[in-house]
Amino acid sequence: VTKIGVLTSGGDSPGMNAAIRAVVRTGLYYGLEVFGIMRGYAGIIENDIVPMHSRSVANIIQRGGTVLKTARCKEFMQPEGRKKAYDNLKALGIDGLVVIGGDGSFRGADIFSREFDIPCIGIPGTIDKDIAGTDFTIGFDTAVNTAVEAIDKIRDTADAHDRLFIIEVMGRDAGYIALHSGIATGAEHILIPERKTDIEELIVSLQEKERRKKLVNMVVVAEGEEFGGANEVAKVIKERLPQSDTRVCILGHIQRGGAPTCMDRLIASRMGYSAVECLMEGKHNVMVGIVNNKMQYTLLEKAVKSKQRIGEDWIKMVKILAS
Ligand code: ADP
Repeated sequence: VTKIGVLTSGGDSPGMNAAIRAVVRTGLYYGLEVFGIMRGYAGIIENDIVPMHSRSVANIIQRGGTVLKTARCKEFMQPEGRKKAYDNLKALGIDGLVVIGGDGSFRGADIFSREFDIPCIGIPGTIDKDIAGTDFTIGFDTAVNTAVEAIDKIRDTADAHDRLFIIEVMGRDAGYIALHSGIATGAEHILIPERKTDIEELIVSLQEKERRKKLVNMVVVAEGEEFGGANEVAKVIKERLPQSDTRVCILGHIQRGGAPTCMDRLIASRMGYSAVECLMEGKHNVMVGIVNNKMQYTLLEKAVKSKQRIGEDWIKMVKILAS
C-alpha cells in the first residue's frame, strides 16, 4: 500500500480520536500518504476526503467524539453506492482503508473489500463491547466509568430518600455496560438482553429486601433488555409494590461523550498502530483486537457474527454481593 484512508463510522465512541491519531502518525512514519475520510462511508461516496498530516491530529488524543465525524450511510448498503465509493478511492489512488466502527461498519467493510481490490482493516470502536475477537472495544471503558460516576450520584439521593431507582444504561444488544457498571456500583439487580428477564423473580426479591429493611435499592437495566427498558420495568414495580418510592433515571447519551479514559486511549493507540502494520503486511478483511494483552486478528465476518456470552457465574455473583 502507498495511500491509505481512515474513517469513523456508525455510533461514535470516546477514544476514536486516539485511534485516528495513531493511524495517521504510524502511516506517515512508514512513508504512506494518509487521507481522512469525513462522516464514514458517506464521505467516500461524496468525495469528502482530506489529506492528513502529523499536525492534523495534534491535540485530539484527549477529546471525545471524532474529528472525522461519523454517520450512517444507506447508499453504501447498495452496490451502486459502493461502486461510487470505489471509483472515488481509485481516483485518489487510495489502496487501503482503516475503518473504525462497530459491527455494522465491519459488515460494510467486509462486503466492500470482497467486491473491490481495496483491503480493509477494522478497529472496534463501540461503547457496547459487542464484538468477538477482542477483550476491549474503544469507548467501553469510558462509557462504563461515566455510568458508574452517574449511578454513584443516584445512590446518594436514593439513600437520602429511601428510594428505589431503576437506572437505564446503553446496550441495545449487549449487557456489558449494565453488568460492569451495576457490579461496580453495588446494584441489587442487573437486567441484560443476554438473559431473559424474570420480572416475578425481581418483584419477589425486592419484596424480600423490603422486609429486611434494605433501604437503598438500585436496578440497572440495559436499554435492550427484553422487558422493554427502565420505564416498563418501573411500571410493573409501581403496580406490584405501590408502597415503594420508585424512580426512573435514563442515563442516555452522556455515556457516549467525554474525555476517553487512559484505558481507551491506550487500546485505541495500540489498535491504530497495529492496523497500519496489517495493511503494510498485506492483511485484508481483518479486525485488530486485543486478547490477553496481545494483538489478535480476526476476520471481519467472524468479528460481527459470534456474540460473547455473559456467564451465569456473573449473575450469581451479583445476587450474592447485593444481598
Ligand atoms: P455500527 O458500525 O456502530 O454498528 P451501523 O450498524 O449503523 O453502525 O453501521 C454503520 C454503517 O455501515 C451503515 O450506515 C452502512 O453505511 C454500513 N453498513 C452496515 N451494514 C452494512 C451492510 N450489510 N452492507 C453494507 N454496508 C453496511
